[in-house]
Amino acid sequence: MKHGRIRYEGRVVEVTEGADGRVRLPDGRLLDEAEAQWLPPLEFGTVFVLGLNYADHAKEIAFNKAPEEPLVFLKGPNALQGHRGKTWRPADVDYMHFECELGVVIGKTCRNVPRQRAYDVVAGYCAANDYAIRDYLENFYRPNLRVKNRDGATPVGPWFVDAADIPDPMNLRLRSWVNGELKQDGNTRDMVHDIPALIAHLSGFMTLNPGDLILTGTPVGVADSKAGDEIVTEVEGVGRLVNTIAGEPPAPPSH
Ligand code: MG
Repeated sequence: MKHGRIRYEGRVVEVTEGADGRVRLPDGRLLDEAEAQWLPPLEFGTVFVLGLNYADHAKEIAFNKAPEEPLVFLKGPNALQGHRGKTWRPADVDYMHFECELGVVIGKTCRNVPRQRAYDVVAGYCAANDYAIRDYLENFYRPNLRVKNRDGATPVGPWFVDAADIPDPMNLRLRSWVNGELKQDGNTRDMVHDIPALIAHLSGFMTLNPGDLILTGTPVGVADSKAGDEIVTEVEGVGRLVNTIAGEPPAPPSH
């Protein structure tokens, strides 16, 4: 089943996917997905993000070789937003690119999970777009806080999909379009460190908890995105995520 969250009549409402991709409210009514005000599909816990986890993408951004150990960083909750949102591109930057990624959602509290049992702790999957503003990189990938942890710069969704509905998460097509033009076309089978390896690695030194999210990296094909561009990132069978690049910063939160 596909689960989501929207803001509806002033409340946060948990929804599921209805016929023709429509949004089913708890009382059974259906909304057009384009009309819904989407939130990230879950309240995620720790967000782990893989850098350089596809060899072709590592080459594309001037690394000859992907890292031998997973290169992982964290994001705070400010970074996430839902389907059909807007992400700000500052006016003075030269290169802001999208990254279509498979998100893996942990379903159990766990530690020291061997790779052969890794899928036992997976609750499900979601699509994500891990935008980067490369102007802010210092020494390339270190540190990358200002590159990657920006307000609303990680759209996630629309749906969280139960693990049972995705029998082979290591064979899913990942595609991105800019204003309808296909720019990125890869497959999760080309990850350097696969899902079991990532879960074994992370749980080997820390506890993972239900709702933790692992963004597993992006394949070759990233491209610059300008204000006004519509970016679609799709993970086969998981979700088609729409986002628009904004030329203005988001309104600050009210206190
Ligand atoms: Mg990424």
